[in-house]
Amino acid sequence: MEINDIINSNNNSFTLVAVSKTKTVDEIQKVYNQGQTNFGENRVNELMNKQKILPKNIKWHMIGHLQRNKVKTILPIVHLIHSVDSIRLINTIEKESKKINKKTSILLQIHIAEEKTKYGFSFNELRSLFKENFFKNINFIDIKGLMGMATYTNDKVQIRNEFKNLKLFFEEIKTRFCNSNDNINFNSLSMGMSGDYTIALEEGSNIIRIGTLIFGERDL
Ligand SMILES: *Cc1c(COP(=O)(O)O)cnc(C)c1O
Repeated sequence: MEINDIINSNNNSFTLVAVSKTKTVDEIQKVYNQGQTNFGENRVNELMNKQKILPKNIKWHMIGHLQRNKVKTILPIVHLIHSVDSIRLINTIEKESKKINKKTSILLQIHIAEEKTKYGFSFNELRSLFKENFFKNINFIDIKGLMGMATYTNDKVQIRNEFKNLKLFFEEIKTRFCNSNDNINFNSLSMGMSGDYTIALEEGSNIIRIGTLIFGERDL
């Protein structure tokens, strides 16, 4: 599918992240040449190897589960980490960002799907963190918003409900907690992949992460 068909599929403004995991630098370069500058990867080593070779103005998004021992490697070059899913990971990102004196932009990943395998905070866990003012001592992280993945199902009603709930929660956190803290600027809601991005955009997403529709099926 052409990038422009995806971009023009909805009237809202949103960021398209082209998910290039498992794809070669040549394939990525072709998509870059069409004007695409945001790319997403789910493995640190793969992201770093591609980043070294590809144009320097690419904005690299980390969208997969991030191990704490890989944080240091990725921080100098990552544009946005979508997959921050634990307190320990937040603390590591804070510590390592401080060391290099760089503010890191993140999204907090919320578990909205039925499947047990998907990472992320529950609504209640995250609400408690905000209530306890956990983020008051975080100075080297910009919390830009939330990311979530819907259940892998053909049930469009279920997918829509999961996105709707995430959007409601996003608005709740934004109105209740974001005025009092400079490091929390809730303006980004990352939801929607190849199979469900039109629903996600209708439900208020402003970052979609599209792999298959842009690059074709992955072999793995
Ligand atoms: C692989 C992946 C995507 C892209 O999936 P497609 O169905 O190929 O569009 C989006 N988000 C995350 C977190 C992924 O791991």
